[in-house]
Amino acid sequence: MAKGVDNLKQRRTLWIIVAVIVCITLVAAAVLFALNYVDSGVDPESGFKAKNVILMIGDGMGFEHIAAGNIYSAARLQMERFAVSGEVMTRSLTPGATDSAAAATAMATGVKTYNGRIAYKDGKALETIAEMAMDEGKKVGVVATKAVTDATPAAFLTHAKSRNDAESIASQLVASPVDVLFGLTDEYMTAMYDDIATDNRALCTSFQSIADAVQDSEVDKIFGLLEDGDIQNYGANTLAQLTRNALSKLSSVSDDGFLLVVEGSKIDTASHDNDMAAMLGELQAFNAAISACKEWADMNGETVVIVTADHETGGLKVPEFASSADAYDALLDYDNSNGWFTRTSHSSANVGYYIHATSSEAIMRSVELTDRTGVTVTDADGNAVMTEVLDKYQEIDYNTLMDIPSEIDNTDIFELIRQWLLTE
Ligand SMILES: [Zn+2]
Repeated sequence: MAKGVDNLKQRRTLWIIVAVIVCITLVAAAVLFALNYVDSGVDPESGFKAKNVILMIGDGMGFEHIAAGNIYSAARLQMERFAVSGEVMTRSLTPGATDSAAAATAMATGVKTYNGRIAYKDGKALETIAEMAMDEGKKVGVVATKAVTDATPAAFLTHAKSRNDAESIASQLVASPVDVLFGLTDEYMTAMYDDIATDNRALCTSFQSIADAVQDSEVDKIFGLLEDGDIQNYGANTLAQLTRNALSKLSSVSDDGFLLVVEGSKIDTASHDNDMAAMLGELQAFNAAISACKEWADMNGETVVIVTADHETGGLKVPEFASSADAYDALLDYDNSNGWFTRTSHSSANVGYYIHATSSEAIMRSVELTDRTGVTVTDADGNAVMTEVLDKYQEIDYNTLMDIPSEIDNTDIFELIRQWLLTE
């Protein structure tokens, strides 16, 4: 009898120990999860919302590329004047530096994968932010300066085990409900030209035909597929012009908002080649596209523009100079004999993120709070007054409003866009 009671006591003690261990494990897991979350994550409760999001990716554009661009243009590039900024970690699951496929997948899906994968991991397709946006009735556009089948544009709209599977990527692009797709064509896209033009989707192969299709109210969707050399860094046929066309179409076919992805694709190419003049040209063209987006966002009042890069290319290091004039001269006489580019491949250096936001809600709130300006904010016609209000309320503290850590992971780009743009 006494032995039975002892057994019962022992068993109860055992159960208590097991329960305590389970509790400790659960608490430890929760704490680790929370720490990990705080470490890399963005605040899911920031509550900042935008009708439209423009994600701009400078392929291979590190901090030193921007520093060189600042010297060259004798002014800070547009993105460096944005209100919110910080650093992005770019590593993929493959040791060493990431490639554009894995980095674009991280930004498009919020999941780290191996180099070469296009919105794809462990035998499975990963749903992209562009697909989620389209599911919610948002319009989606993708603009690049290299082939539309290349890694960065592909990772937002298609799924492939290898970035080299261009034939599958091309047919997935043509089957995609994407609203605007501008970039260079290739043999895989030209093979599908008969399938691109439909009742409401236009196939355009020149800047002029793209401009015409943007104006044509019968056309809802545009594939603008250009030849190498058509997109120039200066003049009328630029990335900035393609971007303006994309913005016009996306905003005119629907009032429900959009996601636009714009890639300055050849900053990377020039940096692989350690070709400073070419890099600066591509960077200037990308910068002009950023300015076009900022202007549009300011006019629209409900848009976030986020500029970042997928990785750094070339290990660029701008040498120290005694004066900015010396730096400018050295940049023009560039021969890479004293530093500058230090490799011909990608590096794992952090890249930047730069955010410009306009929020009519925040503006209204700010107007209500201050209410000492005498500005009339309600107007049956809207836009003109909004512009006036925007001019007066440049001092809105988007840093506090958006509450983003100063260092984030590339997967957080997905998380931020999801929070800003989507309701789910
Ligand atoms: Zn590259």
